[in-house]
Amino acid sequence: MIAEIIAVGSELLTPFRQDTNSLYLTEKLNSIGVEVGFKTIVGDAMKDLVRVATTALARADILIFSGGLGPTEDDLTREAVAETLGLQLRRNPELVAAIERRFAERGWKMSANNIKQADLIQGATILTNSNGTAPGQWISGRSDGREKIIVLLPGPPHELKALFEGAVLERLQAKVPRRYIATRMLRITGMGESACDARVAPIYKRYTDVSTTILAAPGEIQLHLRAQAPSSDAAQLRVDDLVDKLEAELDDAVYSDNGDSLEQIVSYYLQMRSATLAVAESCTGGLLAERLTSVSGSSRYFMGGVVAYSNDLKVKLAEVPADLLDHFGAVSEQVAKALAEGIRKRCGTTLGLGITGVAGPTGGTDEKPVGLVYHALASESGTEVIQRNFPGDRQRIRFFASQQALDMVRRKLM
Ligand code: AMP
Ligand code: MG
Repeated sequence: MIAEIIAVGSELLTPFRQDTNSLYLTEKLNSIGVEVGFKTIVGDAMKDLVRVATTALARADILIFSGGLGPTEDDLTREAVAETLGLQLRRNPELVAAIERRFAERGWKMSANNIKQADLIQGATILTNSNGTAPGQWISGRSDGREKIIVLLPGPPHELKALFEGAVLERLQAKVPRRYIATRMLRITGMGESACDARVAPIYKRYTDVSTTILAAPGEIQLHLRAQAPSSDAAQLRVDDLVDKLEAELDDAVYSDNGDSLEQIVSYYLQMRSATLAVAESCTGGLLAERLTSVSGSSRYFMGGVVAYSNDLKVKLAEVPADLLDHFGAVSEQVAKALAEGIRKRCGTTLGLGITGVAGPTGGTDEKPVGLVYHALASESGTEVIQRNFPGDRQRIRFFASQQALDMVRRKLM
């Protein structure tokens, strides 16, 4: 069964408010094996609401409305759904009494417009809202020969959540065939989105029952896999099977298949190899050290390092020979190598990382353009240097550089 979530509220069409209810609802629906096929955001206008409800009714089996159930003139979800279904709205005496009681208990004066919250769509079941005055409504019936379920929920997130969990989830579970969804994510570095897709598409296309989405995130590609089956084991088996095939194809480009971050993976490897690390950073200004130390327990392998921004400090703190700086310039393969080797020696660590580059947006030249970064990893067996030309603004270039450096450590130790 396919669900459509319809978030109602003109404020959700402004830059100031976000529809978060649909994220919550999607998670809950997925947990009982219901896929969300469509999400719609619509303002508080009768004709738009009817149009959206009509479309949703034609393409989805489960329609969940959020918002527009309040007492004010612009809250029109009840009216619009009744009109779309060709059903009457009836004032429900029990609901009138409940709303009056709610006001009386709090010693508040009830304004007349509150009464419309007692209007029930003909044939609807009341979903009692203990956190607010607007009750939810549940309507089920057949349309075009198919079973349809329509649920109206209040917009305030705490009311919507309590109602969904308290009154909707179980009712839905009883109506929908039990399905389970399993998901997994592969995180990949050192490869572009199209290059990655070219290699994995022939594999995932064979798995027609697993949906695969490729997402480009800063410094990495993510492959999101998702399968649905009548049992959770069967669903898990299908995604796991595809993960195995994809990992075999992509090999060491996959750094994580369980959601772990790159700094977390680097942490595992450093500890597994009983290795220690120090860094000498120029253009990343401490970002690399920040990411390394964001992992709890990093003191076991990360000794520290320096932000050697000026040439003078590259010499004093990271033992970069002054003539290298004079001869090749601060952004050079030679200086990256000297930074890595110098900091490794000074700190007495297994590994030393050096980064130097042009983060921009100023400071680029024809010879050394913005985005040019040298990354060096020094170890007992020698020093490896990688040159990259990163695209993007200052923030992205610095992040890419830290990602590349962390990935060098991962590949060295794996
Ligand atoms: P309503 O039920 O339309 O009166 O909604 C009342 C409150 O709930 C407003 O403050 C909204 O900003 C909030 N709200 C409504 N819809 C959503 C949504 N989809 N996501 C998050 N908050 C919402
Ligand atoms: Mg509203």
